[in-house]
Amino acid sequence: MEKIIIVGNNVAGTFTAQNIRFLNEDVDIEIFTQERYPYYTRIKLPEVISNKIQTNDLIVFKDDWYKDKKIKLNLNKRVIKIEPQQKKLFIKGEDKPATYDKLILALGSVPNIPPINNAREMVGKGVFTLRTIEDTIDIKNYIEKTKAKKAIIIGGGLLGLELASQIKDSNLNTTVVEFFPKLLPRQLDDECSAMLKGEIETKGIKIVLNAATEEILGNGYVTGIKLKDGQKFEADIILIQAGIRATIDLAQNSGIETNRGIVVDEFLETSEKNIFAVGDCVEYKNQTWGIIPACMEQSKIVAASALGLRKIEYKGTTPKSTLKIVGLELTSIGIFDPSQELGGGWEILKKADKEDCCYQKLILKDNKLKGAILFGDTKAMSFVYKKMEQDVTKKELMEILELYLYKCSNCGAEYDETKMEILFENLPEDWKCPNCKQLKESFEKI
Ligand SMILES: Cc1cc2nc3c(=O)[nH]c(=O)nc-3n(C[C@H](O)[C@H](O)[C@H](O)COP(=O)(O)OP(=O)(O)OC[C@H]3O[C@@H](n4cnc5c(N)ncnc54)[C@H](O)[C@@H]3O)c2cc1C
Repeated sequence: MEKIIIVGNNVAGTFTAQNIRFLNEDVDIEIFTQERYPYYTRIKLPEVISNKIQTNDLIVFKDDWYKDKKIKLNLNKRVIKIEPQQKKLFIKGEDKPATYDKLILALGSVPNIPPINNAREMVGKGVFTLRTIEDTIDIKNYIEKTKAKKAIIIGGGLLGLELASQIKDSNLNTTVVEFFPKLLPRQLDDECSAMLKGEIETKGIKIVLNAATEEILGNGYVTGIKLKDGQKFEADIILIQAGIRATIDLAQNSGIETNRGIVVDEFLETSEKNIFAVGDCVEYKNQTWGIIPACMEQSKIVAASALGLRKIEYKGTTPKSTLKIVGLELTSIGIFDPSQELGGGWEILKKADKEDCCYQKLILKDNKLKGAILFGDTKAMSFVYKKMEQDVTKKELMEILELYLYKCSNCGAEYDETKMEILFENLPEDWKCPNCKQLKESFEKI
């Protein structure tokens, strides 16, 4: 019987195994992972640190699931080498290699540690990253053991902010330092990012922007950080959440083409025949993803490809991100800033209410919905998910955002809310038509 081996047991590996079993009841499926736990979600790792949940609550599929699906799971097995010609893989500490007919690499990614003086040397001595259950245990133990009071999070992206929120909930004085001049630089435009900063600060988290960390201070254990501009901040613990790096070493050592990720074609096959890759470790057309929607989409395609059913081609995944901090609703999807895109024909519909901390922006090109930011008011979310990359009219989008066009009954001048900073109803009562100087009441909604 044909045997498919998957290396890696998180979202990408697990859902690939599930999809293979869905398509084929007979094929042998075996998973190898270096981790100690069956499939668990990383999304809620920060909540373990603040004791809102326990590590057991993270486990998504327990042993029964694997038994039921006839998937053999090998925990604590690190794959150290692949021999593609002989279809063999070698596991650390074991003499006998495993053999496969098809191999799927779901190796994921690891946290990036930027080139900060002393950062690597201080890992475990007050400097931590967060990716695995073990990391949460180490962070919690360190906080308890040292009775840490002040934390610095390096990185104001989604994971940095979510972690900061849980660290704050653990009663630590919390500061986020971000290299770029704004938070969530890869998901938000300047205006919405500034609104988000204000909201996060009201939760008691300090934010420092334009902050290039030069050095981790301390000798034996951390005492703070120094920025390139000379500013110093004290800390008992430093958590680095500064992006991720695809895991490529195993592929690289085994002669499989890699770049930033493991390079794949549209069927997610690597440069070696019968070896595929899926999830965070994948690079397709010079792009890597690092988000669950990409893992899920790719897991369907790679399952079919590995079974020889090359019907669906991968076309890339639209970036989707949701910030998960209690009391803050924020989703960014697709293109959020057309000024950074090539070509013309972009249209932006925006509704901003700084007082209520609400920001909704929809991006349109050639009558297709290309992206959105929804902050504070996410009513439009299901519409946006359904209509991404689909044909939509401007009128439809105006209805969704409750934006209107007003016309002066005296001179016919128009007040188009999609192009204005202030909603018509928020204009002062003594506002006058810019054309004929009639009062606001001469305008009608059309
Ligand atoms: C705190 C946190 C919160 C997140 N929140 C979100 C979110 O809200 N939304 C979202 O879309 N994404 C989120 N992500 C990202 C998401 O978790 C990843 O996109 C996803 O886990 C990638 O799955 P993967 O299976 O490709 O890789 P990974 O999850 O990295 O799993 C790969 C597995 O392969 C194992 N492995 C690697 N090399 C070997 C080897 N040689 N031998 C054996 N085993 C090996 C690794 O140990 C690992 O267990 C979050 C990530 C973190 C850390």
